[in-house]
Amino acid sequence: MIAKIELAVKGPLFGCRMCGNCLLQETAFICPMECPKGMRNGPCGGITPEKNCYVDTTRKCVWYAIYKRSLKTGRVEMLLEILPPLDWNRVGTETWGEVIRQVRKTGTGKFLGAVVSGNKQNKSVVWDSVFKTIRQPDWWKGDSEYHPPSFAEPVSEFERKLRNGDFVVATEVTPPISSDITRLTKDIELVAPFVTAINFTDSSSARPKMSSMSCSIIAKNMGAEPVLQIAARDTSRSGLQSDIVGLNANGIYNVLCITGDSPKIGPAPVASMNLLDLDSVQMLWILRRMRDEGIYLDGRNIKKPPKLFLGAATSPFASEPELQAIKDHKKINAGAQFFQTNLIFDPDRLDPWLEQLDKRNLLEKIFILIGVAPLKSLKVAEYLNEYVPGVIIPENVMQRMRKAGEGAPEEGVKIALEVIDKMKSKKGVNGIHIMTLGWESIVQRIVAESGL
Ligand code: SF4
Repeated sequence: MIAKIELAVKGPLFGCRMCGNCLLQETAFICPMECPKGMRNGPCGGITPEKNCYVDTTRKCVWYAIYKRSLKTGRVEMLLEILPPLDWNRVGTETWGEVIRQVRKTGTGKFLGAVVSGNKQNKSVVWDSVFKTIRQPDWWKGDSEYHPPSFAEPVSEFERKLRNGDFVVATEVTPPISSDITRLTKDIELVAPFVTAINFTDSSSARPKMSSMSCSIIAKNMGAEPVLQIAARDTSRSGLQSDIVGLNANGIYNVLCITGDSPKIGPAPVASMNLLDLDSVQMLWILRRMRDEGIYLDGRNIKKPPKLFLGAATSPFASEPELQAIKDHKKINAGAQFFQTNLIFDPDRLDPWLEQLDKRNLLEKIFILIGVAPLKSLKVAEYLNEYVPGVIIPENVMQRMRKAGEGAPEEGVKIALEVIDKMKSKKGVNGIHIMTLGWESIVQRIVAESGL
């Protein structure tokens, strides 16, 4: 009966989906379950320029609405709390019964007294004793604090160089679409001497390819330093933890947690677009706790905790810099130690975002590698601009590519070198991440001509 009344009231008022793990107070009273990806810790990088959702462009991004309302009502800092994944035992059940039980535990008189009193601090302590207990179960214990890594020594060469203050170059090698590794090993050999680390994407654009895990192990065995990418889209909570323990045993220490593109932009037949079991913030939180507290999500101790250098992707132009910085702040609090950004073709536009991170004192807590791509053709530029969420190619760059004609690859390299040159002097930028888009043979030239 309570569940029916709850749905009848909260449905029309807040867009409630009866997830049974209510977060409304933290999300400016807009239900985040309207997000087609089921994101529970802020927006993905896919908001369209019109602030619509890239999965369903006829709808506004619900997280953008949450951020805007939080900003208007002074609730922005509440968005920093790391919220847990769903407890599926509670999905479809009411939350009100649980609230009543917690109020009784705290003391009904004490609770009502605090709610009507003018003492803000007392009100917040009593309020949290009810609502925080519900939304932050013991197996999660999320908060809005920064947690520095619990170890002093870098776990990888990639981390060592960044800590050392070097301007670091990472790149990406495209995983093969079959189990033939001839091209993969050739590409690794081609780029490894010129970069510190090599990323392997995890079925980018939701298209199946060789897994990032296999590519990372192959690279490691060849003496290169891999950055393993894990997309939440294809990851369950038990799978994530098991994979990390196993990969650590294989010497894989750099891990980039991403939410991953929606299956909507992948090939047919389209997989479930409804819900992710985890988002990237939750993955970071789970891995950070495995590393620093030596525990699995279920509370079991890990005798030898994994060594990890944790990273996240960010899309600086996905929304206004002030809003984007909130999401990035949350990722850093959850455990991100380095960011690899979406592709940047307009270096000056990056400044307001860096300023917002600086304002939040985040620049000394995170290493930032800027995504740079040499455009091989006008077609590639048009595709990126039109179809890749968060990538914006300014008109002057498009014009240069149009004008270049046959010389497009040369112009693309020139543009990339200009971007890198500007990045070298920006406060808060610690390196570049060359996304080759399948053009691995260009890495050596870019590194050499940029003087890196
Ligand atoms: S743009 Fe991303 S966060 Fe926003 S509603 Fe769509 S999937 Fe969710």
